[in-house]
Amino acid sequence: MKFDEILIEALDRPITKDEALILFEESQRPENYLRLFKAASAVREKECGDLFRLDGWMGNNSECKIDPPCQYCRRAVKGQVMEKWEFGPERVRTIAQAFKETGTTTVEIGGGTDPEGAGPSVLRILEVLRDEGLEVWVNVGPALEEEHIREMKKMRVEAITSSFETMNPQIFREIKPGDSLEKRVNLAHMIDENDVPLISVLMAGIGESYKDRVDHLFYLNEMKNFYQLAISWLRIVPGSPLESKIVPPTPLEAARTVAIGRLIIRDKYINVSDPQHLQLWVMAGANRMVHAGASYHKKGGFSIAGTWVHPGVDHIDLGEGFEITNLLPVTSRQIEGAGMEVEPSVKKAVETFWKGKVAV
Ligand code: SF4
Repeated sequence: MKFDEILIEALDRPITKDEALILFEESQRPENYLRLFKAASAVREKECGDLFRLDGWMGNNSECKIDPPCQYCRRAVKGQVMEKWEFGPERVRTIAQAFKETGTTTVEIGGGTDPEGAGPSVLRILEVLRDEGLEVWVNVGPALEEEHIREMKKMRVEAITSSFETMNPQIFREIKPGDSLEKRVNLAHMIDENDVPLISVLMAGIGESYKDRVDHLFYLNEMKNFYQLAISWLRIVPGSPLESKIVPPTPLEAARTVAIGRLIIRDKYINVSDPQHLQLWVMAGANRMVHAGASYHKKGGFSIAGTWVHPGVDHIDLGEGFEITNLLPVTSRQIEGAGMEVEPSVKKAVETFWKGKVAV
């Protein structure tokens, strides 16, 4: 089938593996990727509506014990460590209330892979955030036991993440030499078998083939409780082992993967954690982001994969050198400008924020 015929068919039904492969191979030229994005946006609108969710982030709840660190991680830069931030119950309650002030309804609890500490730590945080009425999803690598998943389910966690990045075993070993694809796949199945919604990440541009990407997308989509696809792309942290060894892809490679993913997974969330190219993700068919809303951070802004993110326009000082960095007053306007809606609580909080100020 030809490129344009596949896009027309895709408006009414999920594409096949062969069709996905053709779309990857033939969407590198602007006239074709623009047509691909148009089809992906139409499918998102038809299957998911026009809501775009901007989740909060509360990370560093556990140290990462993966050794050696993943080659693309800032932990792989000499002298860089990933700090663990302390969250006692009262502190979590204060953070939750600050999130709610921004209109945030949903928070990611993130952290490194610590098989001993991550599960219990997430459960303590989750209990308070749920008690405060926030939706929560969890992302702490292959560090959870089945008992943790069951406890989280009892607390009505929105979803739990198990990311593979790639399902090509050789590339996984090269790029994540201290990690285990098998453990990550097993965790994903444990989440699925416990009927908990599953989130998983595909990282584009680490040496995988288009066929690897297509197989990966279909593998995830066939899992019963697959709920959210997250797409990232390789970014080289200065000073990391990958510097000068691999040419990283452009964000467009991730956007083409988002769009083709949308034509496969149809009505599920697609998330890209990158506020700097927000309009690109909207155009490609995404409908959810983290790090583009309210995030708990040390004061002074934050970086994603070594790239500094603008420091936000709203800051809620939480003491001890931390704050909620709130990008919602800007990013919600960008979403609405692109013709989508944000959650009503976000809209209301942003309107209050801009009252009396010069809006963007
Ligand atoms: S699992 Fe995550 S935090 Fe740990 S080394 Fe890999 S990329 Fe870094």
